[in-house]
Amino acid sequence: MQKKQQLCILGATGSIGVSTLDVVARHPDRYGVFALTAHTQVEKLAQQCQAFLPKVAVVGTARAADELASRLREMKLTHIQVQHGPQALCDVATAPECDSVMAAIVGAAGLPASLAAARAGKKVLLANKEALVMSGQLFIDAIKHSGAALLPIDSEHNAIFQCLPGNYDRRPGLHGIHKILLTASGGPFLNRDVATLTDVTPEQAVAHPNWVMGRKISVDSATMMNKGLEVIEAHWLFATPAEQIEVVIHPQSVIHSMVSYTDGTVLAQMGNPDMRIPIAYGMAYPERIASGVAPLDLLKVASLHFQAPDMTRFPCLQLAYDALRTGKSAAIILNASNEVAVQAFLDKKIGFRMINELIQRTLEKMAVTDTPDLDSILASDAEARALTGAMIP
Ligand code: NAD
Ligand code: MG
Repeated sequence: MQKKQQLCILGATGSIGVSTLDVVARHPDRYGVFALTAHTQVEKLAQQCQAFLPKVAVVGTARAADELASRLREMKLTHIQVQHGPQALCDVATAPECDSVMAAIVGAAGLPASLAAARAGKKVLLANKEALVMSGQLFIDAIKHSGAALLPIDSEHNAIFQCLPGNYDRRPGLHGIHKILLTASGGPFLNRDVATLTDVTPEQAVAHPNWVMGRKISVDSATMMNKGLEVIEAHWLFATPAEQIEVVIHPQSVIHSMVSYTDGTVLAQMGNPDMRIPIAYGMAYPERIASGVAPLDLLKVASLHFQAPDMTRFPCLQLAYDALRTGKSAAIILNASNEVAVQAFLDKKIGFRMINELIQRTLEKMAVTDTPDLDSILASDAEARALTGAMIP
């Protein structure tokens, strides 16, 4: 019998974490769970521990660790080790018992452990796009040097990965690639009167038409910063310059992205909008396994629509393209400032239109620098957070 693939799921209690465990549960013969991590949702993590029996469970604080340990005692699961804090995330992501790491922590908080997994030569299933946006070349070099496999889980990048030749070696010119066509749903405000965007509430912003996701990425979808981060993510994953990455709005989210070739061919990957498709693809690669998602019924879909993004409606997309072209630490500043602004919007401290305003002002105030290592990346991140934070009333 084939050895079970042992998984470490960083961010197990989140939207991607839960979908990953759904796929794991469908294939108990193929996958074992070595570690599960969560930040504050102790009860949810305890339930997951009961169902999947990991060797280790990690939470954010000592207090949360005490709570989890006491819940696990009640459940008679004392053999599960409980750890806490950022170092513990890196420890489980690099442990010799772990084969694959699902990097599904949201935001910059996921960078150290995702990078550690890349350096340790793990199969890295990357959902945490912010980690790659921040660390770019450093992350790609870590994968190359350790011989790790990097499988994109973000649905668009997973689609592009599937539409690229199997021997793609990050040289778009040699493979006849004309452009990457990154599809975007346009989010909940695609057709709303632009003049009324100042008044939208967090509840309206997180109500995504096609996908159910965590709150931060849902707001990013409403501003289209999510697509902006994905443009930068695509640049690092596939080595395509900004000019060769085009965003196409496709409100049905049935085509998850496309690759356009120099001979006029366009390859698209399609499916129902459900993250278990890219998750199952990454987990089983190069094989394919059941994900629990129903096959696409094209007759029900009936028609597919496409339109160009309007940068005045979605200034965050323009800011992200500009940051990619600027290079150096610009993407780190963009990402950090966005995280702080989105949290302030969710906390009702600022309006929706202030998100792009704050990011733009932070980018104007802060000089870009070289960031060759994790410490310098985290220093830029901290500086940008402080600058944006100081502008919030
Ligand atoms: P989520 O908010 O639902 O879950 C986030 C997870 O990260 C939770 O388990 C939480 O406990 C953990 N976490 C949060 N802050 C942490 C911290 N400081 N330290 C340690 N752990 C922490 O988010 P999500 O929607 O699952 O998204 C996760 C990542 O996947 C994001 O980077 C997102 O951009 C990416 N992604 C998500 C989707 C989706 O459909 N949800 C699609 C594509 C990409
Ligand atoms: Mg995506």
